[in-house]
Amino acid sequence: MAQPFSPGSAAKHSRLRGAAEVDSICPYCAVGCAQKVYVKAGRIIDIEGSYASPVNEGTLCPKGANTYQLVANADRITEVRYRAPYSDHWETRPLEWALDRIAQRLVEARERDFVERNAAGDVCNNLPTVGCLGGATLDNEENYLIKKLFNGGLGIVSIENQARI
Ligand code: SF4
Repeated sequence: MAQPFSPGSAAKHSRLRGAAEVDSICPYCAVGCAQKVYVKAGRIIDIEGSYASPVNEGTLCPKGANTYQLVANADRITEVRYRAPYSDHWETRPLEWALDRIAQRLVEARERDFVERNAAGDVCNNLPTVGCLGGATLDNEENYLIKKLFNGGLGIVSIENQARI
């Protein structure tokens, strides 16, 4: 039966048409609501609640519903502020510089402080001088890599994350 739609209306469609659906979990809290991440031409175009999840059944709270802003945000900080030892002022440095610096310091600390056996001679494989504090916006994949690299790979025991997903 013919519908009373104009050709213009009939030609319209959801912006999600043709997008790939990628399953993920909301990064913000331990409720663990499932999300659908929609990707088109290599770019995330939308993030919505997953209807397949028994946890949230397609819904997201206002915070989780704005997860897309994590990805697409012109105000996202792309530089770091650095104050050198004994300096009295802050300098602006590129993010890549900060990542290299963190990697250098981490390698130095591991080579210097790694403890293979404790005082009793038991194997402990511990790096007691480094800790890792994660933020609530880390996603599953990042948390997995942090746990695997920092704990299993480098011997860091002090790993904490506010979200605890
Ligand atoms: S959508 Fe809201 S309730 Fe669900 S995990 Fe995210 S922050 Fe928590």
